[in-house]
Amino acid sequence: MKITSISAVYPKYKHTVPSWRTHLWQIVVRVETDTGQIGWGYGGGGKAAVEIVNGHFAEILVGKSVNSVSDISNIWDFLYTESIPYGRKGVAIMALSGVDLALFDTLGKAENKPVAKLISDSVRRQTRCYATGSDTDYYAELGYTAQKMPHRWTGDESIEQAVTVAEKTREALGPNAEVMFDVYMSWDTEATLKIHDALKHVGIHWYEDVLTPDDLREIGNLRRKIRPVNMAGGEHEFTAHGFAEIARVQAYDIWQPDITWCGGITAGLRIVEMAKAAKAEVVPHRGGEPWGLHLIAATDCANFAELLPGVRGDGTDYLWKGAPSADNGYISIRDTPGFGVEPNEEIL
Ligand SMILES: [Mg+2]
Repeated sequence: MKITSISAVYPKYKHTVPSWRTHLWQIVVRVETDTGQIGWGYGGGGKAAVEIVNGHFAEILVGKSVNSVSDISNIWDFLYTESIPYGRKGVAIMALSGVDLALFDTLGKAENKPVAKLISDSVRRQTRCYATGSDTDYYAELGYTAQKMPHRWTGDESIEQAVTVAEKTREALGPNAEVMFDVYMSWDTEATLKIHDALKHVGIHWYEDVLTPDDLREIGNLRRKIRPVNMAGGEHEFTAHGFAEIARVQAYDIWQPDITWCGGITAGLRIVEMAKAAKAEVVPHRGGEPWGLHLIAATDCANFAELLPGVRGDGTDYLWKGAPSADNGYISIRDTPGFGVEPNEEIL
């Protein structure tokens, strides 16, 4: 089949998340083929990425064949090369991610297979989830056995705050639970070592995003000082080219590409192969959403998926219909073709 049209929209989100990164600027990409097949993808980059898809990628993709995973890989390389003058990282690759995922959805539907089965004949039945957020009691009630808490460095008083929430989580989820921190680039070298010292008795599984992704060498130095706690990061990195630098300086034990930002499934597959050679684990950012979950189900990613259950009673926009949800702390891909989800067209 050949591509006849491709377009992107920024959804009309109604529920406003109290953050500048409202809905993480996620966009929706639609592909149509000459066989009438329609596929949907999810990318990042907001209205700037919409402009890249509609103003550049759409124009050069019409007429391209999509009959195999290697066709999609070739299209990926073509778009990457065409966008080099303004791309390589950031918004351009977030746009490319949406296109790549829409092509995988299209191919899966054409072959009547879930995306995971396009990638591999052996697919995991279920994946253990961890909850990212602060509502520990709610997550424990839902059956989660792993939680990642947000933390921001605001001075020495925030050490005590980290210890208090970590102890509470360990107490609520039990001795075998995984307890993690995402600090969103707010710690520095000194803060990391101070907090690490104060948290030793709790048993932390990983610290995430301690410094910015431009400080990989220092993150690697810290990584060797905090063992056996793992160093995690990678949601702000793009493509296998970006992860090659992470591998070179051995910055992280746990790589966290976001499949809707880093270049889609095509980039995800290349990153997973690279992680194997680097002896790192891959735990995709937002891996419990369909796009990361199909990659986890079909590859050597760690069997551990991130979900953001919010806080009890929180509102949200249900953009994707048919997405699986966690049951007692575990999640499974559906057996429906493609990614198994359709957008709620009322908010497109
Ligand atoms: Mg994070």
